[in-house]
Amino acid sequence: MNEENKNNLRNLEIANLIYGEGVISVENKNSKTYFESFYKKRDTSNGEEYTRIAPSPTGELHSGALYMAMIDEIVSHKSGGKIILRIDDTDSAREIPGARDRIMNLFKYYEVKIDESYIDGGEYGPYIQSERVDIYKAYVYDFILRGHAYPCFMTSEELDKMREEQTINKVRSGVYGKYAKNRDLTLDEISNKISSGEKYVIRLKSSGDFNKKIKFADEVMGDLSLSENDEDFIIAKGDGIPTYHFSHIVDDYLYGITFVIRANEWVASITKHLELWDKLGVKRPKYGHLMPINKKDGNSIRKLSKRKDPEASVEYFIKQGYTVNAVKSYLMRLANPSFDDWWMSRVKECESNKTLKLDYKDFEFNVNELKRNSRGPLMDFDKLNNMSSDVIANMSAREVYDNVLLWSKSYDKELESILENNKDYALNVLNIEREGDNKRKDIKKWSDVREQIFYFFDELYEADSAELNYDESVKLKIREVLSNEIHYNVNNNESDAVQVEKWMNYMKDEYAMLKLENNGDNNFANMKFGEFMMIIRRLITKRERTPNLFYILKVMGKERVLIRI
Ligand code: GLU
Repeated sequence: MNEENKNNLRNLEIANLIYGEGVISVENKNSKTYFESFYKKRDTSNGEEYTRIAPSPTGELHSGALYMAMIDEIVSHKSGGKIILRIDDTDSAREIPGARDRIMNLFKYYEVKIDESYIDGGEYGPYIQSERVDIYKAYVYDFILRGHAYPCFMTSEELDKMREEQTINKVRSGVYGKYAKNRDLTLDEISNKISSGEKYVIRLKSSGDFNKKIKFADEVMGDLSLSENDEDFIIAKGDGIPTYHFSHIVDDYLYGITFVIRANEWVASITKHLELWDKLGVKRPKYGHLMPINKKDGNSIRKLSKRKDPEASVEYFIKQGYTVNAVKSYLMRLANPSFDDWWMSRVKECESNKTLKLDYKDFEFNVNELKRNSRGPLMDFDKLNNMSSDVIANMSAREVYDNVLLWSKSYDKELESILENNKDYALNVLNIEREGDNKRKDIKKWSDVREQIFYFFDELYEADSAELNYDESVKLKIREVLSNEIHYNVNNNESDAVQVEKWMNYMKDEYAMLKLENNGDNNFANMKFGEFMMIIRRLITKRERTPNLFYILKVMGKERVLIRI
């Protein structure tokens, strides 16, 4: 028997010691050969890209994960490929019950069109890692058979000692080179250790050389030159659960993923993953490692933190009442800097052509532009708010009404019942400055609506604590001015601009008359026109900044206006 055959036999015996003889086989439908014939190769003949998003069900959905999923979706769908969602739940200790369904619902809410997942189905499942343990076993078994992996019995004391020694000698820590003590155990040694119940893990038998560089072209970070992996890292615990390093390579391979887009924290382990791909003996996918979303914190810039920043969770934006369109447009802008110019010109187009919709989906996303954000995009609420008010300004009163009503069902019960009980009136209120050239942009999110419209509704107006200290005599005079029907008649024959101008002239006349008639009254003697108008505005709305009074009076109607004064 030649050396190679001897080795093969030895490997087979080790594998059988661990998994039992004949347990892993085509007949048992649990071998690598079986799985590879079961999962068909994806069609990539026309450059189709298959991407995946792989959330861990350990908490809320991070804004960065939505950002990545959005990019995954565009990249795959633009090319005629698919986006697959896998639940990475092999770390059961950190799993939060219900988290995976919540994550799925959030992706749905944000209109990420996942093609395959444990909910959407697909021919490449299971799409939950904990349901794929048999598949991983088949591949670990295969790695052992081909001499790429071995059982390691080093105890935690031995590993501690090794690390101490490495610290003293000022060398890299880890199981590599001479520190990989169990690499070449004899079959008898392995057999004895297993039968005497010694605990073990399966380690990769690395063939890398740390002093050699590999070139790696990242689709986002560009060309990287990295030291080869030489660590015999753990690929599975005992005969069962694999580590993430190993499982996700097997998954990405069998799912036919062609382009892995993920957080740049994984670059630190990319050489491990590249070695696994090479040992698997198949073509690697492309990788694009994305910079995290950053934010300004005082004078420094740091990445969004789940602990410190509520906006790190996508649910924050839902609670605040940002529209899906606004959040996704904003994320698109973070991904592609050229989005900004497109958006600005699109806003103008939509303003001049009412039939156009302002929608991020019409933007031509360019994957190469991801490279431009080498330090990571910066989350900027002012910008988000501007874009968000553009989106809402582009909606009809009816759309706004429906959206606020839906939002208020969960987050503002009082507003909900007011909107429901006064539907037509509310539609008129929300229609103010929505049609003309000068569109209102005071609503950035649904939680702003209450403050922007409260004064139209008696109970909310009454409950507001703003103080109105005006002399009775002043109120009486203003009441008289506002008693005239002229303020409440709707004229559909003239443009808004003409009507507003006429009305302003009327008010100026009224003001001049009041001054003339009351020139002995100090309240009026020094009053400017602007003040006169402000008093009216405040009496009616309790605010100093509102849409044009002309519209407010019309929508509110005489009866309500007079009660306020
Ligand atoms: N479940 C991993 C994470 O949430 C995914 C990593 C990957 O994309 O490979 O970080």
